[in-house]
Amino acid sequence: MLFSDLSLSSALLQALPAMITAPSRVQQLAIPAILNGQDVLALAQTGSGKTYAYGLPILQRISQTSALSLAAVVIVPTRELAQQVAQNLQPLAQSLGLRVEHACGGEAIECQIERLTTPAKILVATPGRLLALAQQGVVTFSQVQSVVLDEADRLLDMGFINDINTLISMMPVGQRLLLSATMPAVLNELAQQILSTTHKRIE
Ligand code: AMP
Repeated sequence: MLFSDLSLSSALLQALPAMITAPSRVQQLAIPAILNGQDVLALAQTGSGKTYAYGLPILQRISQTSALSLAAVVIVPTRELAQQVAQNLQPLAQSLGLRVEHACGGEAIECQIERLTTPAKILVATPGRLLALAQQGVVTFSQVQSVVLDEADRLLDMGFINDINTLISMMPVGQRLLLSATMPAVLNELAQQILSTTHKRIE
């Protein structure tokens, strides 16, 4: 299979790094489901290509909507992952004329507030800081259509469950994507709470 078999726009395909030719397993399975609007639960390690597996279809869907403010949120456990995901998605977003931002704890919130005054369409953030930004009214979730929990097992290990539940309760009903290296019982519980019963499970 080739990336060009996955119904992705030619702008996105051209923005992929040249060394990336064939879609990985999780990409082959997740991209069509996410483009269709389905929820997904994917058992995916770092290195499996999980970032593009959700990033490509989410960006394509966002580019087709009329949302003027934030349309997708990627919640990650660490600052390093936030930076890495934002960096990977940036050229793809740019090819569609969309803006990606990231926001994490440990950085000056004032700088993030300034960067976020021009609304980004996709925001990659750690849970505590995202909640603080939402509570201060710096980001609004009213047009969010897709929420990703990346490295969901680590998010739970790090004790972010309450923040995640609060954040999700603040967002409109929409697409939910959960990616995790492991699938402990607590994560299955969270999946049952937040994913639609018709979600696609990728193992
Ligand atoms: P991830 O699992 O998203 O952390 O990706 C790990 C690394 O694999 C990143 O450096 C990507 O650039 C790379 N990658 C993602 N998809 C593919 C692919 N289909 N073929 C080769 N490398 C890829």
